[in-house]
Amino acid sequence: MKVIVLGAGVIGVTSAWYLTQAGHQVTVIERQPGAGLETSYANGGQISVSHAEPWANPAAPAKVMRWLFREDAPLLFRLRADLQQWLWGLAFLRECLPARARRNTVQLVKLGLYSRAELTRLRRATGIQNDQLECGILHFFTEPDAHAHAGETAALMRAHGCDLELKRAEEVIAIEPALRPIAGSLLGATYTPSDQSGDAYLFTARLAALAAERGCEFLYNTAIEGLERSAERISGVRIRDDSGSRVLRADAYVVALASYSPALLRPLGIRVCVYPAKGYSVTVPITDESRAPRVSLIDESLKIVVSRLGARLRIAGTAEFAGHDLSINRTRCEAILRRAQTLFPGAFDASQAQFWTGLRPATPGNVPLIGRTRLPNLYLNTGHGTLGWTLACGSGRALADIIGGRPPEVAFEFLRGRP
Ligand SMILES: Cc1cc2nc3c(=O)[nH]c(=O)nc-3n(C[C@H](O)[C@H](O)[C@H](O)COP(=O)(O)OP(=O)(O)OC[C@H]3O[C@@H](n4cnc5c(N)ncnc54)[C@H](O)[C@@H]3O)c2cc1C
Repeated sequence: MKVIVLGAGVIGVTSAWYLTQAGHQVTVIERQPGAGLETSYANGGQISVSHAEPWANPAAPAKVMRWLFREDAPLLFRLRADLQQWLWGLAFLRECLPARARRNTVQLVKLGLYSRAELTRLRRATGIQNDQLECGILHFFTEPDAHAHAGETAALMRAHGCDLELKRAEEVIAIEPALRPIAGSLLGATYTPSDQSGDAYLFTARLAALAAERGCEFLYNTAIEGLERSAERISGVRIRDDSGSRVLRADAYVVALASYSPALLRPLGIRVCVYPAKGYSVTVPITDESRAPRVSLIDESLKIVVSRLGARLRIAGTAEFAGHDLSINRTRCEAILRRAQTLFPGAFDASQAQFWTGLRPATPGNVPLIGRTRLPNLYLNTGHGTLGWTLACGSGRALADIIGGRPPEVAFEFLRGRP
Protein backbone atom coordinates (compact mmCIF):
# COMPACT_ATOMS: atom_id res chain seq x y z
CA MET A 1 0.00 0.00 0.00
CA LYS A 2 1.19 3.58 -0.64
CA VAL A 3 0.95 5.68 2.53
CA ILE A 4 1.61 9.41 2.99
CA VAL A 5 2.55 10.52 6.52
CA LEU A 6 1.99 14.22 7.21
CA GLY A 7 4.57 15.58 9.67
CA ALA A 8 8.07 14.38 10.63
CA GLY A 9 8.04 14.88 14.38
CA VAL A 10 8.70 11.89 16.64
CA ILE A 11 5.11 10.70 15.98
CA GLY A 12 5.24 10.96 12.17
CA VAL A 13 8.70 9.39 12.00
CA THR A 14 7.84 6.41 14.24
CA SER A 15 4.64 5.90 12.20
CA ALA A 16 6.70 5.98 8.99
CA TRP A 17 9.27 3.58 10.44
CA TYR A 18 6.75 0.90 11.43
CA LEU A 19 4.80 1.33 8.17
CA THR A 20 8.03 0.90 6.16
CA GLN A 21 8.97 -2.15 8.25
CA ALA A 22 5.54 -3.62 7.46
CA GLY A 23 6.31 -3.38 3.73
CA HIS A 24 4.33 -0.26 2.78
CA GLN A 25 5.63 2.36 0.35
CA VAL A 26 5.85 5.45 2.59
CA THR A 27 6.34 9.16 1.87
CA VAL A 28 6.70 11.66 4.73
CA ILE A 29 5.97 15.36 4.16
CA GLU A 30 7.49 17.98 6.45
CA ARG A 31 7.81 21.77 6.21
CA GLN A 32 11.10 21.92 8.14
CA PRO A 33 14.48 21.08 6.56
CA GLY A 34 14.75 17.87 8.65
CA ALA A 35 12.93 15.58 11.07
CA GLY A 36 12.13 16.43 14.69
CA LEU A 37 12.71 20.17 14.47
CA GLU A 38 9.46 21.41 16.09
CA THR A 39 7.90 20.07 19.33
CA SER A 40 10.10 16.97 19.35
CA TYR A 41 13.29 19.08 19.30
CA ALA A 42 14.21 19.95 22.89
CA ASN A 43 11.63 18.34 25.15
CA GLY A 44 12.20 16.97 28.65
CA GLY A 45 13.66 13.73 27.31
CA GLN A 46 11.68 11.47 29.61
CA ILE A 47 10.23 8.10 28.72
CA SER A 48 7.89 8.43 31.66
CA VAL A 49 5.09 5.89 31.94
CA SER A 50 5.06 6.94 35.60
CA HIS A 51 3.98 10.46 34.55
CA ALA A 52 0.71 9.19 33.11
CA GLU A 53 -1.56 11.15 35.44
CA PRO A 54 -2.90 13.93 33.18
CA TRP A 55 -2.92 17.62 34.08
CA ALA A 56 -6.71 17.26 34.03
CA ASN A 57 -7.26 15.72 37.46
CA PRO A 58 -9.52 16.64 40.41
CA ALA A 59 -6.88 18.94 41.96
CA ALA A 60 -6.30 20.94 38.75
CA PRO A 61 -9.19 23.46 38.65
CA ALA A 62 -8.25 25.03 42.02
CA LYS A 63 -4.57 25.23 41.03
CA VAL A 64 -5.34 26.77 37.63
CA MET A 65 -7.53 29.45 39.27
CA ARG A 66 -4.81 30.23 41.82
CA TRP A 67 -2.19 30.58 39.06
CA LEU A 68 -4.41 32.46 36.58
CA PHE A 69 -2.55 35.78 36.45
CA ARG A 70 0.91 34.71 37.67
CA GLU A 71 3.50 35.19 34.95
CA ASP A 72 5.72 32.36 36.28
CA ALA A 73 2.83 29.93 37.00
CA PRO A 74 3.54 26.28 36.11
CA LEU A 75 0.16 26.04 34.31
CA LEU A 76 -1.08 29.32 32.84
CA PHE A 77 -4.24 29.95 30.84
CA ARG A 78 -3.84 33.26 29.00
CA LEU A 79 -7.49 33.91 28.35
CA ARG A 80 -8.00 35.04 24.74
CA ALA A 81 -10.87 35.71 22.38
CA ASP A 82 -10.24 32.29 20.87
CA LEU A 83 -13.21 29.94 20.60
CA GLN A 84 -10.96 26.87 20.28
CA GLN A 85 -9.24 27.79 23.56
CA TRP A 86 -12.55 28.14 25.43
CA LEU A 87 -13.96 24.89 24.02
CA TRP A 88 -10.75 23.13 24.96
CA GLY A 89 -10.88 24.67 28.46
CA LEU A 90 -14.43 23.43 29.03
CA ALA A 91 -13.51 19.95 27.84
CA PHE A 92 -10.46 20.08 30.15
CA LEU A 93 -12.73 20.80 33.14
CA ARG A 94 -14.86 17.75 32.29
CA GLU A 95 -11.73 15.56 32.17
CA CYS A 96 -10.90 16.70 35.74
CA LEU A 97 -13.82 14.62 37.08
CA PRO A 98 -12.39 11.77 39.20
CA ALA A 99 -13.75 8.91 37.05
CA ARG A 100 -12.52 10.47 33.81
CA ALA A 101 -9.11 11.31 35.26
CA ARG A 102 -8.71 7.68 36.41
CA ARG A 103 -9.78 6.36 33.01
CA ASN A 104 -7.35 8.64 31.20
CA THR A 105 -4.51 7.64 33.54
CA VAL A 106 -5.15 3.94 32.91
CA GLN A 107 -5.25 4.50 29.12
CA LEU A 108 -1.94 6.34 29.24
CA VAL A 109 -0.28 3.72 31.45
CA LYS A 110 -1.32 0.93 29.07
CA LEU A 111 -0.09 2.71 25.95
CA GLY A 112 3.01 3.94 27.81
CA LEU A 113 4.07 0.44 28.94
CA TYR A 114 3.60 -0.90 25.42
CA SER A 115 5.45 2.03 23.91
CA ARG A 116 8.42 1.79 26.26
CA ALA A 117 8.77 -1.91 25.45
CA GLU A 118 8.58 -1.14 21.71
CA LEU A 119 11.26 1.55 22.09
CA THR A 120 13.54 -0.95 23.83
CA ARG A 121 12.91 -3.52 21.06
CA LEU A 122 13.57 -0.93 18.36
CA ARG A 123 16.77 0.18 20.06
CA ARG A 124 18.02 -3.42 20.28
CA ALA A 125 17.13 -4.10 16.65
CA THR A 126 18.73 -0.95 15.22
CA GLY A 127 21.42 0.00 17.76
CA ILE A 128 20.11 3.59 17.64
CA GLN A 129 21.84 5.87 20.19
CA ASN A 130 20.31 9.05 21.56
CA ASP A 131 22.10 9.85 24.84
CA GLN A 132 19.73 7.42 26.53
CA LEU A 133 19.93 6.45 30.21
CA GLU A 134 17.99 3.58 31.76
CA CYS A 135 18.25 4.78 35.37
CA GLY A 136 14.53 5.22 36.08
CA ILE A 137 12.56 8.32 36.99
CA LEU A 138 12.25 9.90 40.45
CA HIS A 139 9.19 12.10 40.92
CA PHE A 140 9.90 14.10 44.06
CA PHE A 141 7.69 16.22 46.32
CA THR A 142 8.42 19.25 48.46
CA GLU A 143 4.78 20.26 49.09
CA PRO A 144 2.57 18.36 51.56
CA ASP A 145 -0.65 18.33 49.44
CA ALA A 146 0.99 16.83 46.37
CA HIS A 147 2.95 14.36 48.49
CA ALA A 148 -0.23 13.18 50.24
CA HIS A 149 -1.84 12.50 46.84
CA ALA A 150 1.16 10.52 45.50
CA GLY A 151 0.20 7.25 47.21
CA GLU A 152 -3.22 7.15 45.58
CA THR A 153 -1.83 7.67 42.06
CA ALA A 154 0.96 5.16 42.71
CA ALA A 155 -1.57 2.49 43.69
CA LEU A 156 -3.62 3.06 40.52
CA MET A 157 -0.53 2.85 38.31
CA ARG A 158 0.84 -0.22 40.07
CA ALA A 159 -2.52 -1.95 39.61
CA HIS A 160 -2.05 -1.48 35.85
CA GLY A 161 1.54 -2.70 35.66
CA CYS A 162 3.71 0.40 36.23
CA ASP A 163 6.45 -0.48 38.76
CA LEU A 164 6.17 2.75 40.71
CA GLU A 165 7.53 2.60 44.28
CA LEU A 166 7.02 5.10 47.13
CA LYS A 167 10.28 6.36 48.66
CA ARG A 168 11.09 8.29 51.83
CA ALA A 169 13.30 11.39 51.67
CA GLU A 170 16.49 9.55 52.73
CA GLU A 171 15.84 6.82 50.14
CA VAL A 172 15.46 9.52 47.47
CA ILE A 173 18.95 10.85 48.24
CA ALA A 174 20.36 7.33 48.13
CA ILE A 175 18.90 6.84 44.63
CA GLU A 176 20.03 10.27 43.36
CA PRO A 177 22.73 11.87 45.55
CA ALA A 178 22.69 15.02 43.37
CA LEU A 179 19.47 15.98 45.19
CA ARG A 180 21.38 16.46 48.46
CA PRO A 181 21.22 20.30 48.29
CA ILE A 182 17.42 20.15 48.80
CA ALA A 183 17.44 17.27 51.31
CA GLY A 184 15.93 19.58 53.97
CA SER A 185 12.78 20.28 51.97
CA LEU A 186 12.29 16.82 50.41
CA LEU A 187 9.15 15.04 51.64
CA GLY A 188 9.50 11.89 49.52
CA ALA A 189 9.13 10.62 45.98
CA THR A 190 7.89 7.90 43.73
CA TYR A 191 10.54 5.96 41.86
CA THR A 192 9.99 4.01 38.64
CA PRO A 193 13.15 2.01 37.87
CA SER A 194 11.99 0.91 34.40
CA ASP A 195 11.41 4.45 33.08
CA GLN A 196 14.13 6.01 30.93
CA SER A 197 15.43 9.22 29.40
CA GLY A 198 17.05 10.20 26.11
CA ASP A 199 17.18 12.91 23.48
CA ALA A 200 13.97 12.79 21.43
CA TYR A 201 15.44 14.89 18.63
CA LEU A 202 18.48 12.63 18.14
CA PHE A 203 16.16 9.62 18.15
CA THR A 204 13.78 11.17 15.60
CA ALA A 205 16.51 12.36 13.24
CA ARG A 206 18.40 9.04 13.41
CA LEU A 207 15.27 6.94 12.98
CA ALA A 208 14.30 9.05 9.95
CA ALA A 209 17.74 8.35 8.45
CA LEU A 210 17.33 4.60 9.09
CA ALA A 211 13.84 4.67 7.56
CA ALA A 212 15.21 6.49 4.49
CA GLU A 213 17.88 3.76 4.11
CA ARG A 214 15.03 1.22 4.05
CA GLY A 215 13.19 3.02 1.26
CA CYS A 216 10.98 5.56 3.06
CA GLU A 217 10.88 8.87 1.14
CA PHE A 218 11.14 12.18 3.04
CA LEU A 219 10.04 15.43 1.38
CA TYR A 220 11.46 18.22 3.57
CA ASN A 221 10.95 21.98 3.10
CA THR A 222 7.48 21.09 1.88
CA ALA A 223 4.35 22.74 3.26
CA ILE A 224 1.08 20.83 3.45
CA GLU A 225 -1.69 23.09 2.22
CA GLY A 226 -4.74 20.86 2.39
CA LEU A 227 -6.36 17.48 1.87
CA GLU A 228 -8.56 16.82 -1.14
CA ARG A 229 -11.65 14.75 -0.78
CA SER A 230 -13.60 12.82 -3.36
CA ALA A 231 -16.85 11.28 -2.11
CA GLU A 232 -16.05 9.58 1.20
CA ARG A 233 -12.28 9.25 0.71
CA ILE A 234 -9.18 11.42 0.68
CA SER A 235 -7.99 11.65 -2.90
CA GLY A 236 -4.79 13.66 -2.43
CA VAL A 237 -2.70 16.07 -0.40
CA ARG A 238 -1.89 19.51 -1.74
CA ILE A 239 1.71 20.49 -1.05
CA ARG A 240 3.95 23.42 -1.84
CA ASP A 241 7.73 23.45 -2.20
CA ASP A 242 10.29 25.55 -4.07
CA SER A 243 9.00 24.27 -7.39
CA GLY A 244 5.40 25.32 -6.67
CA SER A 245 2.17 23.61 -5.69
CA ARG A 246 1.08 20.04 -6.59
CA VAL A 247 -1.07 17.16 -5.39
CA LEU A 248 0.36 13.85 -4.16
CA ARG A 249 -1.81 10.74 -4.07
CA ALA A 250 -1.70 7.57 -1.98
CA ASP A 251 -3.93 4.77 -0.70
CA ALA A 252 -3.84 6.03 2.90
CA TYR A 253 -2.96 9.29 4.70
CA VAL A 254 -1.73 9.71 8.28
CA VAL A 255 -2.11 13.10 10.01
CA ALA A 256 0.75 13.57 12.52
CA LEU A 257 0.82 17.37 12.55
CA ALA A 258 0.60 17.84 16.33
CA SER A 259 -1.24 21.07 17.22
CA TYR A 260 -1.60 21.97 13.53
CA SER A 261 -3.79 18.90 12.93
CA PRO A 262 -7.18 20.58 13.70
CA ALA A 263 -6.70 23.29 11.05
CA LEU A 264 -5.98 20.70 8.33
CA LEU A 265 -8.94 18.53 9.34
CA ARG A 266 -11.57 21.28 9.88
CA PRO A 267 -12.33 21.86 6.15
CA LEU A 268 -13.18 18.14 5.91
CA GLY A 269 -15.74 18.52 8.72
CA ILE A 270 -13.48 16.53 11.07
CA ARG A 271 -13.22 18.25 14.44
CA VAL A 272 -10.51 17.22 16.89
CA CYS A 273 -9.92 18.89 20.23
CA VAL A 274 -6.14 19.47 20.17
CA TYR A 275 -4.81 22.78 21.50
CA PRO A 276 -1.17 23.94 21.82
CA ALA A 277 0.18 23.85 25.39
CA LYS A 278 3.34 25.88 25.16
CA GLY A 279 6.27 24.64 27.24
CA TYR A 280 9.87 25.70 27.73
CA SER A 281 13.17 23.98 28.11
CA VAL A 282 16.58 25.14 29.22
CA THR A 283 19.66 23.16 28.15
CA VAL A 284 22.96 23.73 29.92
CA PRO A 285 26.43 22.15 29.65
CA ILE A 286 27.39 20.12 32.73
CA THR A 287 30.57 21.42 34.38
CA ASP A 288 30.67 19.17 37.48
CA GLU A 289 29.51 15.59 36.80
CA SER A 290 29.29 14.75 40.50
CA ARG A 291 26.66 17.44 41.14
CA ALA A 292 24.46 16.62 38.14
CA PRO A 293 21.77 13.93 38.34
CA ARG A 294 21.84 10.75 36.24
CA VAL A 295 18.38 9.59 37.30
CA SER A 296 15.75 11.55 35.38
CA LEU A 297 13.65 13.72 37.72
CA ILE A 298 10.21 15.28 38.04
CA ASP A 299 9.96 18.22 40.42
CA GLU A 300 6.28 18.38 41.30
CA SER A 301 6.44 21.84 42.90
CA LEU A 302 7.33 23.66 39.68
CA LYS A 303 6.11 20.94 37.30
CA ILE A 304 9.50 20.62 35.66
CA VAL A 305 11.48 17.60 34.54
CA VAL A 306 15.25 17.17 34.46
CA SER A 307 17.18 14.77 32.22
CA ARG A 308 20.88 14.26 31.67
CA LEU A 309 21.54 14.02 27.95
CA GLY A 310 25.21 13.14 27.51
CA ALA A 311 27.21 16.15 28.70
CA ARG A 312 24.10 18.35 28.87
CA LEU A 313 21.37 18.84 31.44
CA ARG A 314 17.89 19.53 30.07
CA ILE A 315 15.32 21.13 32.37
CA ALA A 316 11.85 21.44 30.88
CA GLY A 317 8.29 22.10 31.76
CA THR A 318 5.50 24.55 32.55
CA ALA A 319 2.49 25.05 30.30
CA GLU A 320 0.93 28.13 28.84
CA PHE A 321 -2.30 28.08 26.83
CA ALA A 322 -1.88 31.02 24.48
CA GLY A 323 -2.44 29.83 20.92
CA HIS A 324 0.38 29.01 18.49
CA ASP A 325 2.70 31.83 19.60
CA LEU A 326 6.31 30.59 19.79
CA SER A 327 7.99 33.66 21.30
CA ILE A 328 10.26 33.01 24.28
CA ASN A 329 9.06 34.43 27.59
CA ARG A 330 12.23 35.10 29.61
CA THR A 331 10.38 35.24 32.94
CA ARG A 332 9.25 31.66 32.49
CA CYS A 333 12.67 30.44 31.29
CA GLU A 334 14.45 32.19 34.14
CA ALA A 335 12.06 30.60 36.68
CA ILE A 336 13.12 27.19 35.32
CA LEU A 337 16.83 28.10 35.38
CA ARG A 338 16.58 29.47 38.96
CA ARG A 339 14.99 26.25 40.16
CA ALA A 340 17.71 24.20 38.46
CA GLN A 341 20.37 26.32 40.21
CA THR A 342 18.69 25.67 43.58
CA LEU A 343 18.52 21.93 42.91
CA PHE A 344 22.05 21.46 41.50
CA PRO A 345 24.28 24.37 42.54
CA GLY A 346 27.62 24.34 40.72
CA ALA A 347 26.63 21.49 38.39
CA PHE A 348 26.37 23.47 35.15
CA ASP A 349 27.27 26.66 33.34
CA ALA A 350 24.15 28.84 33.43
CA SER A 351 25.78 31.50 31.23
CA GLN A 352 25.54 29.06 28.29
CA ALA A 353 21.87 28.24 28.83
CA GLN A 354 19.88 27.62 25.65
CA PHE A 355 16.22 28.53 25.92
CA TRP A 356 13.66 26.76 23.74
CA THR A 357 9.91 26.62 23.47
CA GLY A 358 7.57 24.07 21.90
CA LEU A 359 3.84 23.50 21.55
CA ARG A 360 2.58 20.27 23.11
CA PRO A 361 -0.35 19.00 21.05
CA ALA A 362 -2.70 18.64 24.01
CA THR A 363 -6.07 16.90 24.12
CA PRO A 364 -8.13 17.85 27.21
CA GLY A 365 -7.46 14.50 28.94
CA ASN A 366 -3.94 14.07 27.43
CA VAL A 367 -5.06 10.86 25.68
CA PRO A 368 -3.86 10.88 22.04
CA LEU A 369 -6.06 10.38 19.00
CA ILE A 370 -4.82 7.29 17.15
CA GLY A 371 -6.67 5.34 14.48
CA ARG A 372 -9.00 5.62 11.54
CA THR A 373 -11.39 8.55 11.03
CA ARG A 374 -14.80 8.19 9.44
CA LEU A 375 -13.10 8.69 6.06
CA PRO A 376 -11.77 5.15 5.61
CA ASN A 377 -8.34 6.07 4.19
CA LEU A 378 -7.62 8.93 6.63
CA TYR A 379 -5.84 8.09 9.89
CA LEU A 380 -4.79 10.21 12.87
CA ASN A 381 -1.74 9.94 15.10
CA THR A 382 -1.86 13.20 17.01
CA GLY A 383 -2.65 14.87 20.33
CA HIS A 384 0.12 13.26 22.40
CA GLY A 385 0.38 16.30 24.70
CA THR A 386 2.86 15.92 27.54
CA LEU A 387 3.86 12.36 26.58
CA GLY A 388 4.61 12.29 22.86
CA TRP A 389 8.13 10.96 23.24
CA THR A 390 7.02 8.34 25.76
CA LEU A 391 4.13 7.17 23.59
CA ALA A 392 5.75 7.49 20.14
CA CYS A 393 6.92 3.95 19.40
CA GLY A 394 3.72 2.34 20.71
CA SER A 395 1.53 4.80 18.81
CA GLY A 396 3.50 4.35 15.57
CA ARG A 397 3.54 0.56 15.82
CA ALA A 398 -0.18 0.34 16.70
CA LEU A 399 -1.16 2.68 13.87
CA ALA A 400 0.88 0.64 11.37
CA ASP A 401 -0.98 -2.47 12.60
CA ILE A 402 -4.37 -0.74 12.18
CA ILE A 403 -3.49 0.41 8.64
CA GLY A 404 -2.26 -3.09 7.81
CA GLY A 405 -5.54 -4.61 9.03
CA ARG A 406 -4.00 -6.27 12.10
CA PRO A 407 -5.39 -5.74 15.63
CA PRO A 408 -2.94 -3.65 17.70
CA GLU A 409 -1.23 -5.53 20.54
CA VAL A 410 -2.22 -2.98 23.18
CA ALA A 411 -5.62 -2.57 24.87
CA PHE A 412 -6.04 1.15 24.19
CA GLU A 413 -9.17 3.02 23.07
CA PHE A 414 -8.24 3.65 19.45
CA LEU A 415 -10.50 5.81 17.29
CA ARG A 416 -13.15 3.81 15.48
CA GLY A 417 -14.38 6.07 12.75
CA ARG A 418 -15.70 8.67 15.22
CA PRO A 419 -14.17 12.02 14.17
C1 LIG B 1 8.67 21.71 27.16
C2 LIG B 1 8.24 20.34 26.74
C3 LIG B 1 8.70 19.22 27.44
C4 LIG B 1 8.28 17.95 27.07
N1 LIG B 1 8.80 16.86 27.74
C5 LIG B 1 8.43 15.61 27.36
C6 LIG B 1 8.99 14.47 28.01
O1 LIG B 1 9.86 14.59 28.87
N2 LIG B 1 8.54 13.26 27.64
C7 LIG B 1 7.57 13.08 26.67
O2 LIG B 1 7.17 11.94 26.42
N3 LIG B 1 7.07 14.14 26.01
C8 LIG B 1 7.47 15.39 26.34
N4 LIG B 1 6.95 16.48 25.68
C9 LIG B 1 5.92 16.26 24.66
C10 LIG B 1 6.50 15.84 23.32
O3 LIG B 1 7.62 16.63 23.00
C11 LIG B 1 5.42 15.99 22.24
O4 LIG B 1 4.24 15.32 22.62
C12 LIG B 1 5.90 15.41 20.92
O5 LIG B 1 7.10 16.02 20.52
C13 LIG B 1 4.85 15.60 19.84
O6 LIG B 1 5.37 15.02 18.67
P1 LIG B 1 4.65 15.26 17.29
O7 LIG B 1 5.40 14.47 16.28
O8 LIG B 1 3.19 15.04 17.44
O9 LIG B 1 4.83 16.84 17.05
P2 LIG B 1 6.00 17.63 16.29
O10 LIG B 1 7.33 17.17 16.73
O11 LIG B 1 5.69 19.08 16.44
O12 LIG B 1 5.80 17.17 14.79
C14 LIG B 1 4.79 17.69 13.94
C15 LIG B 1 5.47 18.05 12.64
O13 LIG B 1 4.49 18.49 11.71
C16 LIG B 1 5.07 19.51 10.93
N5 LIG B 1 4.02 20.34 10.35
C17 LIG B 1 3.01 20.98 10.99
N6 LIG B 1 2.22 21.63 10.12
C18 LIG B 1 2.76 21.40 8.88
C19 LIG B 1 2.39 21.81 7.57
N7 LIG B 1 1.32 22.57 7.33
N8 LIG B 1 3.16 21.40 6.54
C20 LIG B 1 4.25 20.58 6.74
N9 LIG B 1 4.62 20.17 7.95
C21 LIG B 1 3.89 20.58 9.02
C22 LIG B 1 5.94 20.29 11.91
O14 LIG B 1 6.97 21.00 11.25
C23 LIG B 1 6.47 19.18 12.83
O15 LIG B 1 7.77 18.75 12.47
C24 LIG B 1 7.37 17.77 26.00
C25 LIG B 1 6.94 18.89 25.26
C26 LIG B 1 7.38 20.16 25.61
C27 LIG B 1 6.93 21.34 24.80
